[in-house]
Amino acid sequence: MNEYKIFINGNFVDGRGGISEVINPHDNKPIAKYHIASKEDVDLAVKSAREGFKKWRNFSINRRIRILQNLSKLMQDNLDKLAQIESLNVGKPISASKGEISAAIAVLDFYIGAVNKIMGETIPTLPGLFNYTIREPIGVCALIVPWNYPLMLTMWKLSPALACGNSVIIKPASWTPLSALELAQLCKEAGIPDGVVNIITGPGSSIGSYLVSHEGVDKISFTGETKTGAEIMKLASDTIKRVSLELGGKSANIVFDDADFDDAVNGSIWAIYYNSGQSCEARSRLFVHKNIYDKFLSAFLKKTKKIKISNPLNKDTQMGPLVSKVHLASVHSLVEKGIEEGAKLIYGGKKVEEGELKDGNYYYPTILELHSTENVCFKEEIFGPVVVVMPFESEEEVIKLANDSKYGLAGTIWTRDVKRAIRVTNAIRTGSITVNHPLTAIPGLPFGGYKQSGFGRELSLDAIDLFTEKKSVIYKFSEDPVNPWGL
Ligand code: NAD
Repeated sequence: MNEYKIFINGNFVDGRGGISEVINPHDNKPIAKYHIASKEDVDLAVKSAREGFKKWRNFSINRRIRILQNLSKLMQDNLDKLAQIESLNVGKPISASKGEISAAIAVLDFYIGAVNKIMGETIPTLPGLFNYTIREPIGVCALIVPWNYPLMLTMWKLSPALACGNSVIIKPASWTPLSALELAQLCKEAGIPDGVVNIITGPGSSIGSYLVSHEGVDKISFTGETKTGAEIMKLASDTIKRVSLELGGKSANIVFDDADFDDAVNGSIWAIYYNSGQSCEARSRLFVHKNIYDKFLSAFLKKTKKIKISNPLNKDTQMGPLVSKVHLASVHSLVEKGIEEGAKLIYGGKKVEEGELKDGNYYYPTILELHSTENVCFKEEIFGPVVVVMPFESEEEVIKLANDSKYGLAGTIWTRDVKRAIRVTNAIRTGSITVNHPLTAIPGLPFGGYKQSGFGRELSLDAIDLFTEKKSVIYKFSEDPVNPWGL
């Protein structure tokens, strides 16, 4: 069994917090061992990143670009291996893992293209003054990543952080550390100087908290649950760290009665069940106009039953297992609670107990019909393949329903009426909204949340703001006295 060490100052070293196992969610058997960092290891990683920052920020722009291009090529050369690891560790269908690693490389390429376009401005102000701004890297960035898209979300953060000249400490989630630790080797081979990229593992509650409170860390870029984000804001406040947060969601999917019916059914299937519903932008609340409600629900149910659930390594698998036993139990208990509170179970609502999948964390795609917005399954992020369905009558009503959430990450509407599409997209309080298709995360377009879904925008040039400081430089060229008191 492979044993993965933590990565500090360009070396793979023993973690002093112990050794743990990585579990394959397909059968709950161990697939690798990994070292856990201690607080002393975090101190070392911060020290190494501080030294790394001094080097990397002073590299010429062209040198930085060439090294990041090396990394992009190495990731491309290792795509199959990385995808295999991601599927074994997270339970993603292999076709999805390949797509996500490609998407991760596309994000890196996007920011490589930005390295030599990080510019300041000249700003006219008072007579006799000449002013301009420059952008500088922030320093040491802690990149804290969840388990649902381990490598892809690492690259959403690492790419702009390095493009802007920062050094980093990456902390993957404890269930899914493997792809980040594989990436460490590629960073080394690419020629990223020692100390610029460090990767530590460990529980969020101890090692994560210690990292985000550390005096030597300047910036935190976090993706994960809203309650963890709130905790991190508190921990970061003592040292006034820069913080950006990508948090949870409970996104709406609205089907009007004039929508292209087949597209709306197919797109709605993808919007909830991709990655077994373990997506922050999963459209987990489905609102369907009453005129087409019965027909839509029956077509949606028919397609839901056809989803191919099987071993993630099979080429034609569409849905794999949930990431862990613990997570499966959490998804199921929310479904049970929702049913207790009055939700009608249309399909699913249980673990797959048959055949070769019985030892894994497979959960049937689940449809719950709701008539109350007070139901726990309407309010809470379930983070599994569970959709709640509700009929609606009017545009005003469905806008109200869609906005009735503490979250504001994404949304989708299906309609052929352009005027309505504009009215509804304007009225919905989310960071992304799609019309007549389900895809939200596209390199170049800002991605992030309104309300309790977080703040800051990744995946776009906006992330340059998240990973740089802006300095105003002010020159005086007039002959006026420098001290207005005239002393
Ligand atoms: P989580 O909040 O439990 O953990 C995320 C990461 O934070 C892990 O690496 C964890 O170890 C670490 N962590 C936990 N407590 C910490 C603390 N006190 N200090 C520092 N680090 C700590 O989230 P998860 O269960 O891994 O991921 C699922 C969540 O992520 C869902 O809520 C989902 O919506 C959200 N998510 C959001 C986006 C987005 O872009 N908005 C994308 C993917 C996932």
